[in-house]
Amino acid sequence: MSSPTLTIDLPAIAANWRALDALSTCETGAVIKADAYGLGVARVAPVLADAGARTFFVHSAEEGVTLRRVIGPGPAINVFSGHMPGDADMIREGNLVPMINSVDQLLIHVEALPGHPFGLQLDSGMNRLGMEPAEWAALRDIALAQKPTLIMSHLACADEPDNPMNAMQLQNFTDMTEGLDVPRSMAATGGTILGPAFHFDMTRPGIGLYGGLPFVDATPVVTLDLPVVQVRDIAAGETVGYGMTFTAPAPMRIATVSGGYADGLIRAMGNVATLTHDGHKLPLAGRVSMDMLTVDVTALDEVPEHLQLIGLHQSIDTVAGFAGTIGYEVLTSLGPRYDRVYLR
Ligand SMILES: *Cc1c(COP(=O)(O)O)cnc(C)c1O
Repeated sequence: MSSPTLTIDLPAIAANWRALDALSTCETGAVIKADAYGLGVARVAPVLADAGARTFFVHSAEEGVTLRRVIGPGPAINVFSGHMPGDADMIREGNLVPMINSVDQLLIHVEALPGHPFGLQLDSGMNRLGMEPAEWAALRDIALAQKPTLIMSHLACADEPDNPMNAMQLQNFTDMTEGLDVPRSMAATGGTILGPAFHFDMTRPGIGLYGGLPFVDATPVVTLDLPVVQVRDIAAGETVGYGMTFTAPAPMRIATVSGGYADGLIRAMGNVATLTHDGHKLPLAGRVSMDMLTVDVTALDEVPEHLQLIGLHQSIDTVAGFAGTIGYEVLTSLGPRYDRVYLR
């Protein structure tokens, strides 16, 4: 068996949802876009629904339809990208709620699906999705007459508690929505942790459910064990891997393990990352290949069957740090070749 093993702890995901729910002063949703951040929506969504999540968020209508098949008719499914041309059948059949981003989208929606529920997305400063204050002012009365189910906005810097952008966006969102009789939502994981001022009527955590920062108290969810394919001893001065980027300073033992950039192990972590075994940190020697890593295991008396990249000793954010990226990218890059084991 040469497939790496990706172990996904479903009870840990449920525990993280409950912990974030306990932090929030309102309903707690669950963001499950990108196949539940790469962990598998078919397995993850039912666990969140059992934990108590009643409102899910996805990126696209396609993701919404997939999620609806998984969780059945009960929970609400909100779509961040709104109502795109051609989405009407999916939105109706999946009973999805598009988060309308623009005047154009509102027109498409009320024309194609009159009376079908929708929410509204406002831009409070991030300049990514949602209506700008002027657009909103012009449209507001027409949109509100159609009874939106939710008004939401998104924070650009919620993982930086001291960033003045947070208070500025909060003020903008409040100015645009104060006094309206519609539930509001502004906080993802970061905003949930920033505190109740950001919670309004619904929080929308994603990454924290899956064990990532900025939820520092998250229970780890993912373990990635890479099988050792071959071990060799090399002499001082020999090089390892493509481009000869690693030269042994002394006699060394090198283990070659399965798992490479085709599996989402980001190439930028070559010569930088460590794997772990039994409390030892084992440095990568040389570049990340498509299917393999080469690891300095000189410190081990015996080379085990697997070395670990992600687990209790190295979080997804530690591994992200090796590659100069974020835990979100580590998770959503996890490839299709893993032997996936779900703990229940
Ligand atoms: C992805 C996303 C979320 C969830 O963000 P996390 O940082 O993963 O908690 C919430 N809201 C919007 C609009 C998003 O795009």
